[in-house]
Amino acid sequence: MKFVPGKEIHGPDVLSRRPLKETIPNQDILREEICVAALTEANLMTQPFSEAIWKQVTRAQAEDPTSNQLAATIIKGWPQHPDDLDNQLKPFFSVRGELNIQHSLVCKGNRIYTPKSLQKCFLSRLPEGHLGLEKCRSRAAVSVWWPHLSTQLTQAVEGCEECIRQRKNPKEPLMPTTLPDYPWQMVGADFLHAQGKEYLLIIDYFSTFPFLIPMKKKTAGAVIQELEPLFSIFGAPEIFRSDNGPPFNSFEFEAFCRTWEVTLIISSPRYPRSNGKAEAGVKKMKDILNKCSSMSDTYRGLLAYRDAQLQDGCTPAQLFLGRKTRTLLPVLPAELRPQWPDLPAVKQAHQERIQRAKEHHDRVTRARLLKPLSPEPATEPRSYWVSALGRRYRRNREALIWAPTPTIQRPDFYHYSSSGAAASSAQGASAEGAQRSASPGPPQLTPEVLRPSPPPLTGNTTGSRARGNRVERSRPSGESRLRTSGRRIKRPTSLRDYEL
Ligand SMILES: [Zn+2]
Repeated sequence: MKFVPGKEIHGPDVLSRRPLKETIPNQDILREEICVAALTEANLMTQPFSEAIWKQVTRAQAEDPTSNQLAATIIKGWPQHPDDLDNQLKPFFSVRGELNIQHSLVCKGNRIYTPKSLQKCFLSRLPEGHLGLEKCRSRAAVSVWWPHLSTQLTQAVEGCEECIRQRKNPKEPLMPTTLPDYPWQMVGADFLHAQGKEYLLIIDYFSTFPFLIPMKKKTAGAVIQELEPLFSIFGAPEIFRSDNGPPFNSFEFEAFCRTWEVTLIISSPRYPRSNGKAEAGVKKMKDILNKCSSMSDTYRGLLAYRDAQLQDGCTPAQLFLGRKTRTLLPVLPAELRPQWPDLPAVKQAHQERIQRAKEHHDRVTRARLLKPLSPEPATEPRSYWVSALGRRYRRNREALIWAPTPTIQRPDFYHYSSSGAAASSAQGASAEGAQRSASPGPPQLTPEVLRPSPPPLTGNTTGSRARGNRVERSRPSGESRLRTSGRRIKRPTSLRDYEL
């Protein structure tokens, strides 16, 4: 008798079981064993294999030295220690209890062992349908097996280009803008279109006091022409926030801000939420414009809005001018005298309200921080510089999808030969398969490839300056490949690392 540790016993240990008092006739035991064997065989025969693939697997195993050696070891019995095995059989030692031979095929349980010549082919087929890792694993669990299949499958699914394109990042926790210390310290700007006209909205972050300016043009010069009088009346703000669109991303506007010693903060492209005050102001202004029949009505509506209490209990006019404005409603003269509210108390109440809103948002959207990325971070928080197609782009972290290095090529790069020869790109492929194999295939991605999502980038990058966007454009050159249509296309060298 020899002691065998429990971890090395893969089946039930009969000596550790409490025997039943009644005995089972030998005939019943034999019948049970026959049933188990029949069920196993029947299960294997109902695997989702076509006849052609079945023959192909059989031939591949017959031609594979590892399979033959494995079958011989299963029949002969496994040694006590993996060191007694040839190197090619060592990966099988840990699952030796599950390895068996059915229909002359080496199997692990009910899964057919796939030799190396067919592994790439099946690995490219398992993720078909883009059903996700769990479903791919469940497909493999009733089909094929080879050492490290699970790891390879994980890499294949995570590196699937189509899934990466469709993948969306979860919401990140809100980063509320801290309320400035005094009025006109930080202002936001945005354009809006209502009633067939264009307007420029300038809004004070501290008081929410809006300036709605009809615009005939949306050029940097036209905006500067409207801002200069405001700056001369109320002073130059410390910070000017806008979205990434023209004309705010132009050299001319940046030079204007530099002249007035104003810090220009432009939100990440495709991420206008970082200029949230202006975004919210645009909605309110559109609401007023759409409900007022004339500009006179609109201006009276704006007067009412500036004189209406905010959630903090003060009106925009009180917080911006230090007094209430006279409207068409009668008020006592004392109401119109200048009197600043308790600004620190207002700021405190505002911060508490914003914090509650943030917590609610983060809870409802199940927001979570995305893992930092390794490309060049921009100066703005959660913002990165990424390169693609010879250009550099600034993108918010939420718009960037991490793409791992693909370990397998696309399924259509592997071709099955119906003749039963070991197909795929490696050997025995048909003419078309060989032609495909000769093509360079999809670009290899580096481990830290980042693809702007959704690709590709258009629109505001063509502005007069495209702040931080267009830097240079490389000419397509280098490798070419044959499309399925027969057209040969050349890819820019930059696509070695990126794909849009
Ligand atoms: Zn996919």
